[in-house]
Amino acid sequence: MSRDSQIKVFLQNQKKCVYQENQYLSQHTWYRIGGPADFLVFPSNKECLRVIVRFCNEEKIPYFILGLGANVLVSDSGFRGIVLKLTDGFREIRSKGEIIDTEAGVNLQDLILYCEKWSLSGLEYLSGIPGTIGGALIMNAGTDQAVIGDVITEVSGITAQGDDFSIGGDEIGFAYRSAPLLQDKIILSCRLKMHRESARKLREVRLQQMEYRQQKQPVEYPSCGSVFMRPPGDYAGRLIERAGLKGLRRGDAMVSEKHAGFIINLGKASAADVRFLIDEIQRIVQAEYGILLRPEVRFLGFDR
Ligand SMILES: Cc1cc2nc3c(=O)[nH]c(=O)nc-3n(C[C@H](O)[C@H](O)[C@H](O)COP(=O)(O)OP(=O)(O)OC[C@H]3O[C@@H](n4cnc5c(N)ncnc54)[C@H](O)[C@@H]3O)c2cc1C
Repeated sequence: MSRDSQIKVFLQNQKKCVYQENQYLSQHTWYRIGGPADFLVFPSNKECLRVIVRFCNEEKIPYFILGLGANVLVSDSGFRGIVLKLTDGFREIRSKGEIIDTEAGVNLQDLILYCEKWSLSGLEYLSGIPGTIGGALIMNAGTDQAVIGDVITEVSGITAQGDDFSIGGDEIGFAYRSAPLLQDKIILSCRLKMHRESARKLREVRLQQMEYRQQKQPVEYPSCGSVFMRPPGDYAGRLIERAGLKGLRRGDAMVSEKHAGFIINLGKASAADVRFLIDEIQRIVQAEYGILLRPEVRFLGFDR
């Protein structure tokens, strides 16, 4: 039996999980770029997910957890393995006083609106950042004012071996766009400790953040946000702009004129186009300023 047939038989036997074959990931990434995944699976609960993860381990089948795909560049040839998306079944939010328990498939913006409704402060500066709670935790998403790690007291899920884990927020080692102890784990839920603030004030901050993004970022085009991490003491966008790279174009991928830290998809950009620009930017900025820009975007389905 071929490997794909073996996976198919296995998935057909899982009653609680929907799957699609050869599904183009361009339909599941913010960039609107990406070739097909052999299998795109939507597990409906934790046990179903655990069984799949254990199967992947035993059979040495690569798998990848995809959130909203707002920080992922998928190659044009796609991904040979199983992409897991946590959607229905992983979208509950509960709260008691200033404590919120949320599942990983919840949209970050929905959680921000929930907080506003219940006058809970801590995430409002993340307004406008696309993603799920799972993706936000892995990336420690945020702004200069606040990151999600600031309000996390506990994260739970399953390990790469399919065992349960639960880690205190203080142990995770949240740092700039990283959450070291969460890497290679599958996040299913987390607990947040918020503080009280008036809904009016929270709304004001949310609208200010959205307005700022509209003005400063090319939100009208598909992208992955800032492609590169901030180098120590500087901004990637500033270095790229100073190197004269705004407007640099390959196919339909272009360094944004509005914000040089973004590479946008003008319509039909391929992953190869974006990757070419990433390599060019790194090469030129290093030659000009001696700084190697490190990608913030995660790559899927590439050889390197
Ligand atoms: C227009 C735009 C603006 C942006 N602005 C910002 C910003 O201001 N600040 C900022 O920090 N980011 C920003 N980003 C980047 C992006 O929004 C964040 O990184 C976001 O947290 C990604 O969430 P996601 O669900 O889309 O994750 P994905 O992009 O789908 O995945 C990102 C990583 O998280 C992993 N992952 C996702 N879910 C889980 C899970 N449940 N368990 C384990 N691993 C998981 C994936 O495997 C992958 O490695 C921006 C992006 C865009 C498009």
